[in-house]
Formats: sequence, C-alpha cells, structure tokens
Amino acid sequence: MIKGKKMLVFSAHSADFVWRAGGTIAKYIKEGAEVKLVVLSFGVRGESNDLWKQEDQTTEKVKEIRKGEALEAASILGLKDIEFWDFEDYPIYFDRERLDRIVEKIRIVRPDIILTHDANDAFNPDHNKVHEAVFQASVTANSAGALYDGLKNTKQMRLFGFEPHQTEISNYVPGSFVDITSTYEQKISAMKCFKTQNHLIEYYTQRAFMRGNHARRISGISDYKYAESFANFFPVVGEELY
Ligand SMILES: [Zn+2]
Repeated sequence: MIKGKKMLVFSAHSADFVWRAGGTIAKYIKEGAEVKLVVLSFGVRGESNDLWKQEDQTTEKVKEIRKGEALEAASILGLKDIEFWDFEDYPIYFDRERLDRIVEKIRIVRPDIILTHDANDAFNPDHNKVHEAVFQASVTANSAGALYDGLKNTKQMRLFGFEPHQTEISNYVPGSFVDITSTYEQKISAMKCFKTQNHLIEYYTQRAFMRGNHARRISGISDYKYAESFANFFPVVGEELY
C-alpha cells in the first residue's frame, strides 16, 4: 500500500534520482505517498561534461543550469520537497558533520523507505560514498544511544539501492521491481529536462522496457509494460512468503 508512506530519496548528483527512480517516485506521489528528495551535489565537476565544452563556462553557471534542470524534472514527477545541499562532487566526501546532517534529516522525516545509491557502482565512486554515508546515517538514526538534540531515534526503515549504470560490471542484482507503466511518460518527460546528458535518455528508456519484461516474467502480470529495479539492502520479511 503506497498511500500514506513516507519516502526519502538521497541523490548523489542532480539527475541521478530521475534516471534511476523517476518512475517510482512519480508513482508514489501519484498514489498518495509523501516523497522528499535531497540532492547532495549538483554534479558540476563529474556529471556536467557537455556544459564544460562551452567557452567561458563557470562553476556557478553550471550549478544554476543543473539546479534548473533538476527542479523542472522534479516538478514533472510531482515532487515538490527538494533540498540542494551543494556538496562538491568528484570527489564527494562525508565527514562527521555531513553524516550528522543526514542523520538529522532522517530523524526529522522519519521515512518508511529510503532510496539511494547501491553499494557498488564500478565507475562512480561518488555513488558508493553516498551509499555508505546514507546507510551509516540510517543505522545511527535508528540507534537510541545516538543523541541528536531532541530528535527521537527512528525505527528500522526499508532501504533500496538504485540500479547503477553499468549493471553487470557493478555486480548489481535486482531485489525489487516496481511497475512504472502508469508514470512512464512522466519519467520520459523528466529525463528530457537534462539536455546535457542526452545520451542517457535512450539508455534509460530501453532499461525501463527491459525491466518491464523481467517484471512481467517474474510476476505473471502482463499489464506491467515498464519497470524500474532496485537492490534490497535487507531481505523481505512478512507473515507469508512473498
Ligand atoms: Zn551521479
């Protein structure tokens, strides 16, 4: 049941949440969940290469463009609650202060679900560092002995990892598939906001089709046309076998 769920998304760079989870985010919003997004960096140094081909380019201009694109894409997905933390990327790093900021965010939002990067992205160490930081922060947020100025510890939430770009090379194993047929068009439109990363649009369009095929095969539900997949940080637990 999606309605009423709270989802908190941590995206390393300004477009990651759209390529890898845009359909799922839009679906959760459409069906009545509360979704909040933290964009940790604009990806100025590592994921804006096309913009740096322009003469007289500056970090501030690139940031502004990346922020504009992310806001436009988020608005297409129906996502209104976004924070840009503006950390430098390539390399991104997490000291105690930054980890504490993530812990506090988790304790304030109290999410049922955290979406972030999976453990191993073979070509993107920033993604791996975000995975590690968010996971560490979630464990700390849940811990009663970790004291944060009146912010009560959270209960164990579910955590899921984005599918990395070079799937097999990153030893990625899908743990969950989400049918995004109802929000597929929104995802395509949102991806088109990132004009400087045009090459990724075709790739993630194909990926949604391929994961849709897997989703149909695994579930037997022929209505699933498009899907996104995620890694499960933990196994599924319930009253029966799912
Ligand atoms: Zn990224």
